[in-house]
Amino acid sequence: MGSRNLYLHNFGCQMNVYDSERIRQLLAARNYRLVEDPSEADLIFLNTCSVRAKPEQKVYSALGRFQSLKKKRPSLIIGVGGCLAQQEGEKFLHRFPYLDFVLGTKELGRINEVLDNLETLGKRGLAVSLGGRIDPYASLPLFPSPSKATAFIAIMQGCDNFCSFCIVPFVRGREVSRPSREILEEIRALAAQGVKEVTLLGQNVNSYGNKTPDEISFTGLLEAIHEIQGIERIRFTTSHPKDLSPELIRSFGRLAKLCEHIHLPLQSGSNRVLKRMNRGYAREEYLEKVNQLRKACPQINITSDMIVGFPGEEEADFQSTLDVVEQVQFDDLFSFKYSDRSYTRAAGFQDKVPEEVSRRRLMELQARQRKITSKRNKAWEGRQVEVLLEGRSKENAEEKTGRTRTNHIVNFPGTDDPIGSLVQLRVVKAFAHSLRGERIV
Ligand code: SAM
Ligand code: SF4
Repeated sequence: MGSRNLYLHNFGCQMNVYDSERIRQLLAARNYRLVEDPSEADLIFLNTCSVRAKPEQKVYSALGRFQSLKKKRPSLIIGVGGCLAQQEGEKFLHRFPYLDFVLGTKELGRINEVLDNLETLGKRGLAVSLGGRIDPYASLPLFPSPSKATAFIAIMQGCDNFCSFCIVPFVRGREVSRPSREILEEIRALAAQGVKEVTLLGQNVNSYGNKTPDEISFTGLLEAIHEIQGIERIRFTTSHPKDLSPELIRSFGRLAKLCEHIHLPLQSGSNRVLKRMNRGYAREEYLEKVNQLRKACPQINITSDMIVGFPGEEEADFQSTLDVVEQVQFDDLFSFKYSDRSYTRAAGFQDKVPEEVSRRRLMELQARQRKITSKRNKAWEGRQVEVLLEGRSKENAEEKTGRTRTNHIVNFPGTDDPIGSLVQLRVVKAFAHSLRGERIV
């Protein structure tokens, strides 16, 4: 069979990036090769997100654009997968008659079976069950990735927390940890391919193994990965503040390969709002964990997520969010306007915040954080950092790019070092979203 072209577009989080990479590998076995231009594709696959209204709308408008491609070339196959596919299921096939298949979050591993049915029987595919399958990729073979220094690895699926604003438990199912044996095998295979840095993924990595008494703890998993030869750096995301244990906090500074960065979503600085969000911690407990983290590892980079305009959020609640942001001095913050999601408890709350109020609060919060990030980035000027070389800089092909252990992006003049090298740089300039470095010889 000749080579075929695959256009794969990812709309969501790092978990979707990981899922997309698995899809790419599965389709490589069918002779599909990635292309960057959808008009050259034999198969278009959209890995969708439904965490807020915006990414959802982007999927619908992309599908609208691809309709004309399908009209021109009826043999083109178009499929959707991931969270929005899970949420909408069959409705997707009705709304877009030219769509060939819909794969839910736990059925992505069935893509080849769905394509077989499509090619031999002309049958449109629909697989959106959340039950049954523990792991969408269990026992699937690994195909070699292109040479890369970094990789994501899902260590668990789903979530049991049911934060009142969040759709994830409804579209990714209950929390299930992958067996550590399988995770370690996957990381050893990646290390053998030259991967130097792994990021462990889960909605709440801190509760890894909690539901399986025979399984090692999350800290135990970090220790086992630490032993794998070739892996130089370990990261993880996302941590839930309520489950961040003293044992895990102590791992920073104790495990040499564990990078000095933690993404610890706070969501709001107001205890009243946190309670209605069902987050399971108070602002004071969060601040105490931040103190402990900085005590265990003074140089740790702390980033967070924040939602403004959650139903019932008063001006005083928003002020508490601004106060906590000033108090913690996050290195970076991902902030969002609350977005109503189907199935969630907050969607039924009556006291919605007007759009213009949410918009104003978001702008104010982001302006505050920009100043803090800029000040914290500036403090890196003149310092020596270790950077893992990931490839060419996006802005300037003459330059190389990589990340510090603290997860800062550093661009620097080209060197002959291969991808995956750990290079020592001096930071010469700090920008809003990156640093500029020079090689120390
Ligand atoms: N599991 C992670 C956690 O607990 O922080 C995050 C998962 S969620 C995919 C990523 C971020 O999206 C959340 O931290 C939250 O800030 C934001 N988010 C989730 N639902 C949202 C909603 N309905 N409206 C606005 N932002 C939302
Ligand atoms: Fe969503 Fe909360 Fe689970 Fe994160 S912990 S995925 S925000 S329900």
